[in-house]
Amino acid sequence: MSIKKSILKPDEMAALLKLKFGSKKIMGPRKNGKISNNGNLAFCYDTLDKVSRSFAAVIRQLPDEISDVVCLFYLILRALDSIEDDMDLAQDVKTKLLREFHTKNYEKGWNLSNVGDKQEYRDLLANYHKVIEAFLELDVKYQKSITDICKKMGNGMADFGEKEITTLEDYNLYCHYVAGLVGIGLSEIFAASGIDNKELESQVALSNSMGLFLQKTNIVRDYKEDLDEKRFFWPKEVWSLYSPRFEDFPLNPEKPESIACLNHMVNDALSHATDCLDYLKMLKNERVFRFCAIPQVMAIATLAEVYNNHKVFTENVKIRKGLAAKLIVRAGSIQEVVKTYKEMASVIANKITFGLPNAEETLELVQKINDFCELALTEANKSPEIA
Ligand code: MG
Repeated sequence: MSIKKSILKPDEMAALLKLKFGSKKIMGPRKNGKISNNGNLAFCYDTLDKVSRSFAAVIRQLPDEISDVVCLFYLILRALDSIEDDMDLAQDVKTKLLREFHTKNYEKGWNLSNVGDKQEYRDLLANYHKVIEAFLELDVKYQKSITDICKKMGNGMADFGEKEITTLEDYNLYCHYVAGLVGIGLSEIFAASGIDNKELESQVALSNSMGLFLQKTNIVRDYKEDLDEKRFFWPKEVWSLYSPRFEDFPLNPEKPESIACLNHMVNDALSHATDCLDYLKMLKNERVFRFCAIPQVMAIATLAEVYNNHKVFTENVKIRKGLAAKLIVRAGSIQEVVKTYKEMASVIANKITFGLPNAEETLELVQKINDFCELALTEANKSPEIA
């Protein structure tokens, strides 16, 4: 299998997020006083802006203490992913690096030259000693969480280095390694900080679903782009029900079999939606909530756009900028997010072509989402938040 996909690389929400949150500059020591060498931290935030302007905006709006932690968590996983994605690296070298990468965060001075398929990733790895310095100044509890996730992700990436995604089980496992673990690590960080609900740490399944929902949405949406780059993420167990060859869907994008396959994949992603709402319901801090909710509302809107949409096979389908802007603005509370999910469930319901395979499953899934949303809205009206 070729280059792997990552939720660490979202699309062009950057400008919108910047509009909403502005750009926070680093001015002197941080409030938590944990990181004293501002040169290293400045490098980290600077690099964060370069490798992901979208995530930079939502990470910067987090409360100060966890903003630094999440920035480093992001950069460390971004560096790991850059190793995974570098197709010029010999497989045995890559496998060893991926499995050992978590130990490098404790090796002062360590860096890696000429690895990464883009200049900004090469710069990150070539200056990795600065990330290490900043990492080592984090509270030990955060270092442990980050290292644990980094170790599991690196080993998972290495396992899949020479293995195809064949079964649905493979698909779920791969998505767990590259995305579910991000959700699990973030829950640990939020809980450990005391800034948000301590119970998040034990919500491993819900945290995993948060990552899987985003990852699977990207995998469905990016069929064409990934095929062009010879990347195959749709499990054979699913697509082989509809076509003898994965690359044949664009030849007959409007054929019922092609649409049924696409909808099968959308249904699989949608099955995580209520878990995500359950997770978001648990969050207490408004900034943490926004950080978690923004990618989720983008994902459900993307699924509504790609559902039953043959264009996925031939072009890069995206949600409208205006809709994206509206969703970002409306991601500040569980009530708003539930309303968005309810709206998008109804968009999908209206697109169902009955008689096509998987239509009944879609109907069941959107009804489940709708029921969940109605219940959540009733609960919210019964017990209004005390300001
Ligand atoms: Mg990758």
